[in-house]
Amino acid sequence: MKRYGMLIDGQWVPARSGETREIRDPADGALLAKVPEAGRVDAEAAVDAARAAFDAGPWRKLTAQDRGKLLFRVGEGIRAHAKRLAELETRNCGKPLAEAAFDVADAADCFEFYGGLATKIHGETMQVPANSLSYVVREPVGVCGQIIPWNYPLLMAAWKLSPALAAGNTAVLKPSELTPLTALELGRIICEAGIPAGVVNIVTGPGAGPGEALAASPQVDKVAFTGGTVTGRKVMTAASGNLKKISLELGGKNPNIVFADADLECAVDGALFGAFANQGEVCSAGSRLLVERSIHARLVEGMLKKIPRIKLGHGLEPGVKMGPLVSAAHRDKVESYIEIGVNEGAKLLCGGKRPKGRAFAKGHFLEPAIFDRVKPSMRIAREEIFGPVLAVIPFDSEDEAVSIANDTEYGLAAAVWTKDVTRAVRVISRLRAGITWVNTYHPTFNELPWGGYKASGMGRELGLYGIEEYLETKQVNINLDENPIGWY
Ligand code: NAD
Repeated sequence: MKRYGMLIDGQWVPARSGETREIRDPADGALLAKVPEAGRVDAEAAVDAARAAFDAGPWRKLTAQDRGKLLFRVGEGIRAHAKRLAELETRNCGKPLAEAAFDVADAADCFEFYGGLATKIHGETMQVPANSLSYVVREPVGVCGQIIPWNYPLLMAAWKLSPALAAGNTAVLKPSELTPLTALELGRIICEAGIPAGVVNIVTGPGAGPGEALAASPQVDKVAFTGGTVTGRKVMTAASGNLKKISLELGGKNPNIVFADADLECAVDGALFGAFANQGEVCSAGSRLLVERSIHARLVEGMLKKIPRIKLGHGLEPGVKMGPLVSAAHRDKVESYIEIGVNEGAKLLCGGKRPKGRAFAKGHFLEPAIFDRVKPSMRIAREEIFGPVLAVIPFDSEDEAVSIANDTEYGLAAAVWTKDVTRAVRVISRLRAGITWVNTYHPTFNELPWGGYKASGMGRELGLYGIEEYLETKQVNINLDENPIGWY
């Protein structure tokens, strides 16, 4: 068991209250660490440190090239500790080690992507109807409050910190209270890379208190939030106090649409991976499987044949494809949806039960569930469950598929499976979602913008679009006339 401090102004400190939180392995309940349980005052101290580092520290004087080099060093640091970080991620949030290892490499890539981008931030010169040299410069927004969830703890920290730092901002990151460990390890790597004190602060604790303080603080210029839609609304309301800039990455109820001409084997794989990767605890999970009726039976049969290959267990065990859910409370919530689905009249084809046996006794395991005969009006087809529960909905025509797909408050991700490229392009253009795939599900690239339509959020992360969220735009007008304006 390790005791962590949190990172404020370059120091590893306890909570002012002295309170700590136990962090446990969701697969077996083992005590992994104790971390400070921050309150509002701790978040405020971290904001003060970020404010001072932005307003008066050495950070603003660094060249973009130097900032870029520091980010590359962070990327290197992540790679140097990749194995340990992946194991820690698996222990803290439950995901299989292969998935955690992928996330760790992706986090390093993200720091490197934005390290390269630091030197490509530029403005432009404008012709204006006056004797003026007029140009536009891009500047950092200032102090960024960054609040992240528990499903991709290290990767979400990388998605938040790397563009903010590339653009020259300072930050206070608040990881989920359930999964702070890899973010704290990242803090250590950031300090070792030589990023000055106060530029990155990491506050561990719940949403109530420190999370709310970050969203509301008048000292914070921008809040970047990833989490549930209900929380996103609260963050947006709190952020309105000083009209801070805001970006929100929220939930989804994403349609994965399979047409009859799709390669069935690929579609079966894509349907399972889309729904059950990371225990289904993915904002972009393909949790609604829309299937053309003529292949419905074959697709379902194909999935049921493969479901036993999704081996449950501790994510560190070889061959495990699905770990536990993140917490007992979250498993209770997912189980309540299994009951809701059954009561609504959907047919539970498999899973939805706690696996039996000693290996599972102390963990929050749940067998992957597939519901058939789901109607688009049912709650299991409308509400984000955020667990291993797939709702299969048959359709008869392309128009019907599009209409069901778009009939949701969300608009994060969507996919289409077909061999007809014209249809693929046509259907994708009709889907109201920010992240789309054809004949695949889930690949995510640091180069491409990530974010949703409608209640799935606002703004975009990643790629060139992601850094825009961390930049202000300033116009500069240099008068080249030498005479007084003579207005009066
Ligand atoms: P959550 O909304 O409960 O918590 C997210 C973060 O917000 C946590 O750090 C939490 O402590 C903090 N928080 C809670 N209440 C707060 C408040 N009032 N003010 C400020 N901060 C507060 O979400 P979760 O359960 O951690 O994560 C699951 C959700 O995240 C799902 O809805 C999922 O779809 C979403 N998510 C979205 C994306 C995306 O990119 N769109 C990625 C991952 C997860």
